[in-house]
Amino acid sequence: MRQKIVAGNWKMHKNAEETEDLLNELIDQLPHDVEAHIVVAPTFTNLASAVEHLEFTNIEVAAQNMHQSESGAYTGEISADMLRSIGVHLVILGHSERRAYFHETDSLLAYKVDTALKNYMKVIFCFGEELKDRQSGNHFNIVENQLRDGLFHIAKEAWANIILAYEPVWAIGTGETASPEQAQEMHLFIRETIRKSFGSDVAEDVSILYGGSVKPDNAREIFSQPDVDGGLIGGAALKAADFAAIVAAI
Ligand code: PEP
Repeated sequence: MRQKIVAGNWKMHKNAEETEDLLNELIDQLPHDVEAHIVVAPTFTNLASAVEHLEFTNIEVAAQNMHQSESGAYTGEISADMLRSIGVHLVILGHSERRAYFHETDSLLAYKVDTALKNYMKVIFCFGEELKDRQSGNHFNIVENQLRDGLFHIAKEAWANIILAYEPVWAIGTGETASPEQAQEMHLFIRETIRKSFGSDVAEDVSILYGGSVKPDNAREIFSQPDVDGGLIGGAALKAADFAAIVAAI
């Protein structure tokens, strides 16, 4: 069922104490009367305490990444089973920073998606074009290929566990936002691409989030677009008042 979702990606910010402080502020400040499903993604070291902290709230905890293998000699990595064992059932995969700085390819992401689904995890699957792709008019092709190569191998039934996050790379952390019209145009394209391969029920049910410099002052306009089902928020998720205002804009 299509859901409104606002997710905060905390990236490599907030130590243990700061995480606890921000969670307390969010519990105090997030609006209680919104329909949106609220997600926060702290760093690995703070996931277990965040799950515990948020146990009696409506805020879900997500991981920012996970390894594609079930287990093994992969020093420094975290598996799906480890996440599940501390109560984390949702993982962000394919964030543009993972693609750019850690060389995550579409085929690696396809593997990660499979491992997550096999372990009964839900996935926020991120994708989006770079500035050069948009300038050359290639953005629809790029987005379609990222979806086909990273995600379209899954079974129709598995889509119930997928949340999409369209994040144009040129808008992430840059202060540059896609206009509401640009976001809607791409979200509609994404939904139609899914419809062609998986049918209308999957296309209508999947939540497609927008990410890229969403702030309290532009959230309402972006979220009001018919095919935008919420947002994946970076910088503005680190301040409780800003994140609360964005959630209230849904
Ligand atoms: C993100 O990192 O997913 C993101 C959208 O960041 P920002 O909101 O800071 O652009």
